[in-house]
Amino acid sequence: MHETPLTIAFGRKVFSVHNHVGHLDPWPFYESEEPISPADPGPATNEELDYFMKCRGIEKTLIIPNYGIPVQAQPFSHNELVVKLCRQGGGNVAGALWVSGLPQNSERTQVALALMDEPGISALKMSYLLGGTADPRKWDEATTKLHETIFQAAIERDIPIHFHTSPGGGSDITGFFELIKRWGKEMKIHLVHMGGGVSGHIRLLSQWKDLIEGGYRIYIDTSWAIGFAVRKLLQEVDRTGIGADRIMFGCDEPWSDYESEFWKIQDARISDEIKERIFWGNAQEMYFNKLA
Ligand SMILES: [Zn+2]
Repeated sequence: MHETPLTIAFGRKVFSVHNHVGHLDPWPFYESEEPISPADPGPATNEELDYFMKCRGIEKTLIIPNYGIPVQAQPFSHNELVVKLCRQGGGNVAGALWVSGLPQNSERTQVALALMDEPGISALKMSYLLGGTADPRKWDEATTKLHETIFQAAIERDIPIHFHTSPGGGSDITGFFELIKRWGKEMKIHLVHMGGGVSGHIRLLSQWKDLIEGGYRIYIDTSWAIGFAVRKLLQEVDRTGIGADRIMFGCDEPWSDYESEFWKIQDARISDEIKERIFWGNAQEMYFNKLA
């Protein structure tokens, strides 16, 4: 490994609410004729995760199965790893279990839900990148039923669903708005990537105040978010205070990179108090309070 642990960190206490763990097989993505691995593998042992965190100055992290290849069983296969790393994490590692609302994943999802009361499990992870859509108006009966089972399990424990967002297709924020309308007052909804891309950011920014003041329990992380949107939201939150408790730092490694994600927040012209909330305070309340 070429990385070395930081000795003085970045001068901040940092918790990341978005890190992937575990191996991902190479795949012939897009036009590739050979299977390729676009990203490095995620940490797969307690030692590797600890080293990964020390190299970036991350004190606590929320871990999620690595995913990205079109094989439904793949991310589920890392749920046991998530449980194990949480157990070994000494209170600094929380986990999100992979679940899916696609009826073909019903059995796998039931197995995952049975792990929810393991120590450190603090969220469920869902992504429509592997199929389906966030828009409940487009779900058939079986899909609706499975989603309701998943959401009910999260609501009972008052833990969030960690949802992937990206522009267009099944992960578009417009579908999530309908989901938020139906379940967002009862269920904590973590929209990763701040709504997903330029269109997602603009749509989310335009709804931010109404969603928060309307009593919807939405949260975001700033991984992959584009400059203008982070600046705009943070300056608005700095001015109004609306939603200051809803924004969290996530580096989304191994798919994004820590440094660029860090500086996006660190360099923002906002109060230090809000930076502290984003870098760790909000994450502590959301994901780490119940940990030992
Ligand atoms: Zn991610």
